[in-house]
Order: sequence, then C-alpha cells, then structure tokens
Amino acid sequence: MPKSDVTELAASLEEYLGDPHDADSRMPFAQILDHDVRGEYPYQFVALLRRWGLHLRCLPASDGGLAGNVETGMGLMRLVARRDPSTAVGLALNSLGFMPAWILGTPEQKGALIEDMKRGSSVSWGLSERVHGSDLVANEVLAERTEGGWLLTGEKWPIGNATVADKMVVFARTGKRPGPAAYSLFVLDKWRAEPGTVSDLPFEDLYGTRALDLSGVRLDGAFVPDSAMIGREGQGLEIALKTSQTARVVLMHLALSAVDTSLRLALDFAERRVLFGDRISDVPYTRRQLTEAFADLMIADAMVLGAARALQAAPEQISVWASVVKYQVPTLLQKTMSQLTVVLGARTFLRDHPHYGMHQKMVRDILITDIADGNTVVNLRNLGHQLAGLLDKAAEPGEGVREAAAERAAVLYGLDRELPVYEPVKQEL
Ligand SMILES: Cc1cc2nc3c(=O)[nH]c(=O)nc-3n(C[C@H](O)[C@H](O)[C@H](O)COP(=O)(O)OP(=O)(O)OC[C@H]3O[C@@H](n4cnc5c(N)ncnc54)[C@H](O)[C@@H]3O)c2cc1C
Repeated sequence: MPKSDVTELAASLEEYLGDPHDADSRMPFAQILDHDVRGEYPYQFVALLRRWGLHLRCLPASDGGLAGNVETGMGLMRLVARRDPSTAVGLALNSLGFMPAWILGTPEQKGALIEDMKRGSSVSWGLSERVHGSDLVANEVLAERTEGGWLLTGEKWPIGNATVADKMVVFARTGKRPGPAAYSLFVLDKWRAEPGTVSDLPFEDLYGTRALDLSGVRLDGAFVPDSAMIGREGQGLEIALKTSQTARVVLMHLALSAVDTSLRLALDFAERRVLFGDRISDVPYTRRQLTEAFADLMIADAMVLGAARALQAAPEQISVWASVVKYQVPTLLQKTMSQLTVVLGARTFLRDHPHYGMHQKMVRDILITDIADGNTVVNLRNLGHQLAGLLDKAAEPGEGVREAAAERAAVLYGLDRELPVYEPVKQEL
C-alpha cells in the first residue's frame, strides 16, 4: 500500500477514535483507566474497532481480509495501543490465533476463520501450558485419534482471550514419543464441543494490561474433526515457532505506543510546570531526559520497522530480526519509561488522574512486551545459538553478500520500495 494511503487510513482511524482527553470521544482515557482499575474486558472498544474494520487490516486480502502487508496493520494497531494496550492486545490476539492458518492452513480453513471474525467471533492461540512455560516440547495436552477426528485432553494456560474467544488453535501432542515432531495444531470450536469437554478457567487478576482476558481452558476429550488440523500431523512445532516469530515483531508496536503516550504526557507536564520561576522544560537536565526519551523511541521505531518489513523482504533472516527486537526494544524502552517517570514525578502515582494517570498504566502495560511470546532471555539464547554463524559470515562474506545486504537494507528502510507479498510459510527457523 502506498505511504500516502497508509497515512490517510491512520488519519481516518484517529478521527474515528477522537481526542482521548475528551470524555465524549469514542475511546477516552478516563474510560480506559476505569476499565483498567476494574480489570474489565473492553468489549465496547473492541467492538467499535471491529466495526471500523481494524482486524481486517491484519488478515490476508487473498482470503477475505484487507491486509497486503504486516506494516500497515501494525501501524494502525499502534494508534490503538497508545490509548489502550489492553484493547490493542485483545484485538491483535485474533491475528495471532489466525497466524498458524496463514502459515499452512487450507484456503477453506483461512476463509472460514476470517468469515467468523467478520461476524464478531474471536480466535485465541493456545500454545502455553502452566507447568511447562517456554519448554514447548514438554507440553502435555494430548490429541488422541478417534473416528473422524481427535479428542483433546489437558489444560492451556495462560492464554489471552481464552474465554472471550469462540475458537482456540490448540497445540497438542499427537506423537507417541516426545520430540519436535510430536505436536500438531487443531482449530477447536468451543461451541461445537460436547457439554463437559471444554471448561473455561477463571480470568486472572492482572498487574499490566489489566482489562485483558488472560485465562485458559480445560479440555476433557474435546472432539475436533480431521478437517480442523492445520498443516500435517507433526508440523505443529514448526508452525508454532513461525507464529512466534511474527508475534515477537508485531507485539513490539505496543512498546512503542506506551512510550509515545508517556513521552507526550511528560512533555506536556514539563511545559506547564513552573518551578523556581521557570518551566521545567527549560531546565537543562529535564530537557535532556526528554530528548533522550525521544531518541530512544526513534531508535526503537527504526528497529521495529526494519523487523516488520523483514517479515516480507527477508523471511529467511527473520529468526534473527525477531529475537533482536524482542530483546532490545523492551529492554531499551523500559529504561526510557523509568526516565519519564522521573520527569513526571509524583504524577506517576495518580492512578485515576484522567490525564497523567495514563503513565502509570503504560509503565505496567509495557511489561507484556518483555514476557509474552518468548521472554527476553529466550530471545538472547536464540541469538546466541546463531551468533557463531553470523560472525563467521560477517568476517568472511562470500562474493556478493555485502551487495545483497546493502540492497536488502535499502528495501527494508525505503518506505517507497515495494515489498513482496507476505508469505509467512517462507520464514526460516
Ligand atoms: C499477558 C499475557 C498474555 C499471554 N498470552 C498468551 C497467549 O495468547 N497464548 C499463549 O500460548 N501464551 C500466552 N502467554 C504466555 C506467555 O507466552 C508465557 O509467558 C510463556 O509461555 C513463557 O512462560 P513463563 O512466563 O511461565 O516463563 P518460563 O518459561 O517459566 O520461564 C521463566 C524464566 O526461566 C528462564 N528461561 C526460560 N526458558 C529459557 C531458555 N530457553 N533459556 C534461558 N532461560 C530460560 C527465563 O529467565 C525466564 O524468564 C501470555 C502471557 C501473558 C503474561
């Protein structure tokens, strides 16, 4: 999509949502803070964004959505997340749930999921298990063959949107022996399961993104037909890891948005606050803190932009890009947030202040970017595994390698350069 069209789309979404400081707008800070304090799922925000069609901007045009690239949907999601990360995550989790089908689903599976989402239905991503966390090949949810399909048994937790979503893509063990080829993926329709075979787990009371539904599901022989399997039997781990690569990049929009909002609040405060006869924005140390925060945001923005475009322009390198941003962006921007906390001072403590109260929320909400979809340590380790090979290549690049890298960088950062169609199946592990 040409840059001018993206800008126009973003302006139209901003206009639709209105001024967040205006209590009568569609998504005002005061109401967002109220949801946050009560830990209440933002149904009406999610609904009004779906009516605008935001979720379709993150689903492939070839199967009924409106997305041609990753960057546009992510850019629009940033506008939502700088108002409310909980709402943005609540919506974005649908694209995450859809991602396995985008990677290796049949046209029928993709079309059906998108059709459901157009009618207001949601799909969640059931990968994690309470006992096993990052150790995916220890996961225990079991899929056993039965006539015409499979019976799923076990527990998925903690899962975003697990309760509010009608469907869940479940990562389950199909192989007899443990190992990477022992897992497969199934689309579970919670409303078609026999009574007693699917139970929702309670909503957790959260520290950050408090309005999000973070819960889980208990399965006791829940039936899924053969047609619900995504990819082939045994391909579950490969698809799950590719799904995580995209999720790691896309989730970073939230870190940028959190700092975007906090920086605006800190700047506004610094320009209004007068101490010892001067505005504090004229105090050199405060000026420097604000300028550094802006520079951090620009650095992180550039990294995320490159990674998002790499999903399309360099899918063979995305394993590195995704882990670099998933480590570096939350690490850098949490430091930035601490700096902005110093500028805002006592205002940071005002939880329900309709203006400055948003900062303390963003300080908590940004943490999800550190933890979900492979925490920073897991990503450092992923980079560590690849470091020797990367350094060898840098020290002795073969013929044409530097030229190819320069051309790739020109595409990644040349916003007017066309990107190839997004084909997540091409991502390499
Ligand atoms: C808000 C939120 C939303 C979520 N949404 C979903 C969802 O929609 N679907 C879903 O499936 N899951 C979801 N999760 C789960 C999330 O992805 C988990 O955080 C993930 O499974 C990691 O598990 P854990 O946090 O329990 O950490 P653990 O895996 O228990 O790790 C604990 C610590 O051990 C160390 N460690 C772990 N692995 C390694 C390693 N390989 N190398 C070195 N050190 C390591 C690290 O220090 C790490 O911090 C969500 C979580 C949150 C908080």
